[in-house]
Amino acid sequence: MMSEENKYCSRCGKLISTPEGDYFSHIKILYCDECRKEVEREQTRQRVAELKKRKKQKDKFRDEELEQLRVLTEQLKEEVELLREGNQAMREENGLLRMQNQSLREENGLLKEKNRLLRIRMQQLTTEINTSGTITQIRRRVK
Ligand SMILES: [Zn+2]
Repeated sequence: MMSEENKYCSRCGKLISTPEGDYFSHIKILYCDECRKEVEREQTRQRVAELKKRKKQKDKFRDEELEQLRVLTEQLKEEVELLREGNQAMREENGLLRMQNQSLREENGLLKEKNRLLRIRMQQLTTEINTSGTITQIRRRVK
């Protein structure tokens, strides 16, 4: 049985406990006082180093996220700028189309007026022809 044997420090090999002493502390003991302190210091150093490493990774991750957000913001700004330019171009085109529409409407009004005058002129001519009886003669000639 291990507990029946003398125990030696796992680090420096010094005798640290004999089976005659307290059973539980004999079972538990691994190091001499000096080495135990040193081992505890070492473990503390490792924990601190581990924490620092994790913090560094966290910071790195956060920095990367910030960088990605910065890039994304930049892209969105460019997109907004493009949309604004597109909007401006469409507004200008819309203005031109409105002007074109306006002049077509005016042209249409002029043509309507011209048409109205021509119709009146045609009626006058028809009346003149009917009155002189020429229309009957023309109809006969055509048949
Ligand atoms: Zn020791």
